[in-house]
Amino acid sequence: MPIRVLAEQLVNQIAAGEVVERPAAVVKELVENSLDAGARRIEIEVEQGGLARIQVRDDGRGIPPEELPLAVQRHATSKIASLDDLERVVTMGFRGEALPSILSVSRLSLVSRSQGQPHGWKISGAGALNQPKPEPAPHPQGSTIEVRDLFYNTPARRKFMRADSTEFRHVNLAAKRIALARFDTSFSLKHAGRTVLDLAPATREDQRAQRVAQLTDPEFLKNALFLDESRMGLRLWGWLALPSFSRTQADVQHVYVNGRAVRDKLLAHALRRAYADVLHGAHFPAYVLYLELDPAGVDVNVHPAKSEVRFRESAKVHDFLFGAAHQAIRRLRPDPAQHHHVSLTPQAHEGVTQASILYAGPSHTPPSVAEPVAGFSPAFPLRLTPDASRLPAAEQPSGQAFAQIHGPLGHAVAQLHGVYILAQNPRGLVLIDMHAAHERVLYEQFKRDLERGGVASQSLLVPVALTVAEDEAELAESQRDRFRQLGLELDRAGPQTLLIRAVPPLLAQGDVAALLKSLLRDAAEQESRQHFSELHSAQERVLADMACRAAVHAGRQLTLTEMNALLRDMEKTELSNQCNHGRPTWVQVDLAELDRMFLRGR
Ligand code: ADP
Ligand code: MG
Repeated sequence: MPIRVLAEQLVNQIAAGEVVERPAAVVKELVENSLDAGARRIEIEVEQGGLARIQVRDDGRGIPPEELPLAVQRHATSKIASLDDLERVVTMGFRGEALPSILSVSRLSLVSRSQGQPHGWKISGAGALNQPKPEPAPHPQGSTIEVRDLFYNTPARRKFMRADSTEFRHVNLAAKRIALARFDTSFSLKHAGRTVLDLAPATREDQRAQRVAQLTDPEFLKNALFLDESRMGLRLWGWLALPSFSRTQADVQHVYVNGRAVRDKLLAHALRRAYADVLHGAHFPAYVLYLELDPAGVDVNVHPAKSEVRFRESAKVHDFLFGAAHQAIRRLRPDPAQHHHVSLTPQAHEGVTQASILYAGPSHTPPSVAEPVAGFSPAFPLRLTPDASRLPAAEQPSGQAFAQIHGPLGHAVAQLHGVYILAQNPRGLVLIDMHAAHERVLYEQFKRDLERGGVASQSLLVPVALTVAEDEAELAESQRDRFRQLGLELDRAGPQTLLIRAVPPLLAQGDVAALLKSLLRDAAEQESRQHFSELHSAQERVLADMACRAAVHAGRQLTLTEMNALLRDMEKTELSNQCNHGRPTWVQVDLAELDRMFLRGR
């Protein structure tokens, strides 16, 4: 075949392959055009998942009649005129491809009325315009675009379409994703005449939060904290879920860059790292976040659907995002007013009491900024804290004074089944998972020690000999300094023999040999990794392993003093609301719940 220039409709159909993958993409493009036209209200209607019909109506600026034919012409746009404009583009569109692409694979009609026009004007066509001259048609100010029989003339693409319900699910997701970005615009979505979404403009903080709850998961918002941080010309605001609200699916992860929904590896990585210490590896954090920066700092012309972006200063953006999210998560401290509440509901018939955890999270209120961890405190059980729980009953302080002496988690009353600590605070009861809580406290302490030069160690009276594989022995020898930093001193005593001479004091009573074996396994894994962040997380795993082994284990009897020391340590420890695997370390049971249980005051 000789080289030839392709027919215009075919060129548009080729472009459509990228831009209009499925009905949801048509909805996205049309709604973005409405937003670019300054619409305050956008109404979307679809039939048969969008395959039979998609209509988007807006109250935006409209298109003057003489420009209507241009709107569906390739590479025609009102949004940029020069390379300079492209480099600081603030509109959603700028490529001038969407309408011509959609027209080339559907039956399209576009009615629009711009300011000063006595009525609307209409153009239409199937595959290409019927006639270049617009005809009058009634319409209020704004535009209505109707797309029927998508892919009617491209049967190969049509065959890839899934069931109407699946296509509609994508349409719905696309509409929700955009509605999350534009709080000031009202949106509605109808499928087969049924209203699926109806969103009023959300201008106030609480209205925005409500829209987020409606578009994601109400539980997400109840368990999320609101943040708003600006630094170095970058701003990040939005909602981050508490680590305990992690999900087994990555379904609540929305990131917007200058109002544009993006799927970006760099941003996702920064957020995963921010949660690394507190989330179980198989779980996903949840967030709805908005990153704002100078448009010149981000290249949006990377992808035809513009779902990917490139940052000019990617390291700066990564570090800012990680830092802001990480700080926000770390500010969380035990606060009974913002924590897991256990609801004890009496079951009248069976006489059985069922406990269910209601998450009464901090919602979208900004977290109070807790003080920095003051000085170094050796972990319980080495520490004795003056403890008011042994005061005679008459002298038991209450309310404010109580909180000052005891801290928010209250004072320990008893140990239950060798596993839980029962404590009392002004709100009611507190139940603490003693191992999980202690593990968390120790982990953070080890991390601090390491940052300050190394974990303290204590010589063993009798060195422990350990038989290992030869390559493990070599590894241990080559990494002696690293182990010393972790408080472990060891020597190679033979091809397959290691001698452990000193360990962190908290580990001296434990199974030192088993610990070292597992650390060696981790170190071996670490060796095979290059990437810094992976290296870093491997080291955190080692510390987590040490913390788990050093933490009090089930069945160990604790004195009240020891229990109270743990509570005080928890209050001072960053992230102590969750154990290293993201499970809660304590729950609050309010007096009101107890009263309800005993039918008091009815
Ligand atoms: P782009 O959005 O990249 O400019 P499109 O093909 O999506 O390209 O749209 C072409 C042009 O048509 C836009 O630049 C805009 O001027 C006009 N247009 C499209 N939809 C609307 C709308 N709903 N309201 C006003 N103008 C519109
Ligand atoms: Mg567009």
